[in-house]
Amino acid sequence: MSKPEELNSIAYKWCWGTIDLSDGLGWNPLIAEMVTAGSVTLELWDRVLSPRQRADLADGLAAQDEQSARVAVAFLAGVSRLGHANPARIVASGAGQQSSPVLDRARMAWQEQALRAGLPLPPAGARVRRADPEHITAAVLPRLTGCDCAGYVDGERCRDQDHQGLYVAAYALNRHGADVLHADTVAKAYRATGGPAWDAVRAALVNAVAHHVGIDPRRLPRLIRPTDPTRLTAFGRLVSQCNGLSRGDASGGFASPHDTWETVSDRAWLRAREAVSRMGVAG
Ligand SMILES: [Zn+2]
Repeated sequence: MSKPEELNSIAYKWCWGTIDLSDGLGWNPLIAEMVTAGSVTLELWDRVLSPRQRADLADGLAAQDEQSARVAVAFLAGVSRLGHANPARIVASGAGQQSSPVLDRARMAWQEQALRAGLPLPPAGARVRRADPEHITAAVLPRLTGCDCAGYVDGERCRDQDHQGLYVAAYALNRHGADVLHADTVAKAYRATGGPAWDAVRAALVNAVAHHVGIDPRRLPRLIRPTDPTRLTAFGRLVSQCNGLSRGDASGGFASPHDTWETVSDRAWLRAREAVSRMGVAG
């Protein structure tokens, strides 16, 4: 697990989560939204979910116990948007919009600072592969949460029985219902991950979320061992709800990549409490 000081001023903070173009280029760091999703999950788990719902989630994930399920679900909700950290998406900040001098200057400033921070942005005009961020999450997450088996490439599933749950869980994120992600889709998404430089950015994002919710990401295989994707429908719905509640909006004020780790973390808890309270829950 990373120490907070290692999480300060590094490249991953320059990945954007939500962009607002109503006044130049406003953007919320992806990490701020990822850790907020983790906090929202814990708030919902503790204040909103019924004992029955918690038990069902723990059963579906074949968790060691309910406490393991609680922290594993919060971590997985936090990292479910990991695939948004890919070169094609990140380099396209504000693309597709009418260009204006204000927007162009803002994009240029963001790009310069992001490169200086070490974010491996592709050079202008480079051909960059695209894939659905959710498929990229499935392709990269098992490798960052305990599967280091050699010889499996392109997001291929390893054969280690202890690791199967990692693949089942990663494939179930961002899904609705029982539709199962096909291995070919994941393999295709793998080609859009951006390679080792982006792997390092995503590893930093995973470590930051893990630190925030208090979990060692490499221990995930010991906490949950899901085998049946059809039993993860409620889990998928909860993750998607937490992501919805964690998105930043310009009117509420965006976080900054210059914020310290403590500020990012404190703000995530505050946002989560507010978001869950707005749902009309006492507490
Ligand atoms: Zn493995």
